[in-house]
Amino acid sequence: MDRSVAEALDRTDPLAGMRAHFAFSEGGPIYLDGNSLGRPPKETVAAVAAAPAEWAAELVGGWDRWIDLPATVGDRLGRLLGAAPGQVLVCDSTTVNLYKLAAAALRDRPGRPVVVADAADFPTDRYVLEGLAAADGRQLRLIDSQRQDPDETAAALADAVDDRTALVCLSHVNYRSGARLDVGAITAAAHEHGALVLWDLAHSAGAVPVELDRWSVDLATGCTYKYLNSGPGAPGYLYVARSLQDRLRQPIQGWFGQANQFEMGASYTPAPGVGSFMTGTPGIIGLRAVDASLAVTEAAGVDRLWAKSERMTELMMDLVERRLSPLGATLATPRAPGKRGGHVSVAHPDAWPWCRALIDQGLVVGDFRTPDVIRLGPAPLYTRYVDCFDAIGAMAGVLASGVDGRAVRGRVT
Ligand SMILES: *Cc1c(COP(=O)(O)O)cnc(C)c1O
Repeated sequence: MDRSVAEALDRTDPLAGMRAHFAFSEGGPIYLDGNSLGRPPKETVAAVAAAPAEWAAELVGGWDRWIDLPATVGDRLGRLLGAAPGQVLVCDSTTVNLYKLAAAALRDRPGRPVVVADAADFPTDRYVLEGLAAADGRQLRLIDSQRQDPDETAAALADAVDDRTALVCLSHVNYRSGARLDVGAITAAAHEHGALVLWDLAHSAGAVPVELDRWSVDLATGCTYKYLNSGPGAPGYLYVARSLQDRLRQPIQGWFGQANQFEMGASYTPAPGVGSFMTGTPGIIGLRAVDASLAVTEAAGVDRLWAKSERMTELMMDLVERRLSPLGATLATPRAPGKRGGHVSVAHPDAWPWCRALIDQGLVVGDFRTPDVIRLGPAPLYTRYVDCFDAIGAMAGVLASGVDGRAVRGRVT
């Protein structure tokens, strides 16, 4: 395979024009970390830059409009997630939302002593569940699927989930391997046992199709700063299925989740609908950023994003096998398109110094995930097929010339 294959794909790429929406100058290293922190869209930069003037002009009167942004931006995001209006809020962080949703689910399933999760999933999720289970005298049962084969994960879940299970919490796309689970099938299987299921969409929203209503999802959360490009620390989001909204009570009884908030009443009465999942004052600048970034994703369209993502990752995986496998690297992502997300992981014993050398030499920005994986996250909005091609070439070159296995690991990888 030569570079002309990638060049041809770029020439016919219906999303090629989207790259012009992003603020960066050409010629830098190839950025393949959009799955960790997306690049800024120009529209988002403009929206954030305009926020102080709005603040200065409107002062406290601005709250009349600002107060609805978590719900209106949530509905907008909901369209990308296959969620009808009134079920998504943009608020807090993914970690805090996960806590609120998991605690609400546990409260709704008393007498069921087990929470099921996957040891291979993202640490924040496991830590939150560990804390909640301990506080509640329940057991956190971790399957350890390694997340290489989604069918094996589903089989391990079938063994672990039973009528004692209160909650199952999983990532749709695994942060390390990129393996993608069948949300609808796993949710249905858990429902047969009477358990609720909470999905973390951090690595799927904006990359792969998500159909929360159609898949009968109970609860979901995710971040906006990865494929949704809303900026470092931009607010997270949560989804609560309409059928559960009246039943579930989240643990943080803040005034933004209160019915008749400005009555300043003596005690807490949850707001109707998903609104009770708000906590305190939302960050308006962050919400403006999310709103502006969503417009860019909408212009591309989720189907076209996944179509491109699928082809880019396919091309990358072919190249990994041809050019990196002979150098001792292995593909750590499932090959079947329906079983993976938007990133490709490459395992190698020297993954850390290899990843560091690629960054230090200004070639490729990917990221290292312990113990031995480099993640490559092409973003269909702004990554070109030639970037994928050139990145693997650079990786082969650096690995072939030898990396320093003693390189010291930094605080952030
Ligand atoms: C990135 C990521 C998070 C991040 O949570 P924050 O609260 O935004 O730090 C959570 N879960 C998964 C699966 C992630 O990949």
